[in-house]
Amino acid sequence: MRGGGRFATLRGRMKNSLASPRLSRELRTIEKMFELWCAAHHAPGAGGPCGACRELLDYAAARLGNCPYGDEKPACAKCPIHCYKPETREKVREVMRWAGPRMLTRHPWLAVRHLLDGRREAPERKKKG
Ligand code: SF4
Ligand SMILES: [Zn+2]
Repeated sequence: MRGGGRFATLRGRMKNSLASPRLSRELRTIEKMFELWCAAHHAPGAGGPCGACRELLDYAAARLGNCPYGDEKPACAKCPIHCYKPETREKVREVMRWAGPRMLTRHPWLAVRHLLDGRREAPERKKKG
């Protein structure tokens, strides 16, 4: 599953381009994590994760596409805004906690970048005037 086509229908409603290196990397990482999670816990179809996982993935992609920090996006865990719905945030965190260590052997480059991105603090908000 590639980030390019899958989220095409969401793109028109997004503020950020998911083609930027930072955001596309984050999107690919989340996709890979959901693929691992779904393969181990659900019954994914030939086209990728199951419907419930796809719904969560679409939600995460939409949040990413509308993140007010854009390319300067911090780690969501360090974000003062927390734009996710609480129950969705908890579910995505559960998937990430489970998939994080497994990514190191399956997708090491993305895993390392994810660890580094996970240390990013939110940039200072510019003051008006
Ligand atoms: S939680 Fe914060 S960093 Fe993550 S997508 Fe939402 S606004 Fe952006
Ligand atoms: Zn699933």
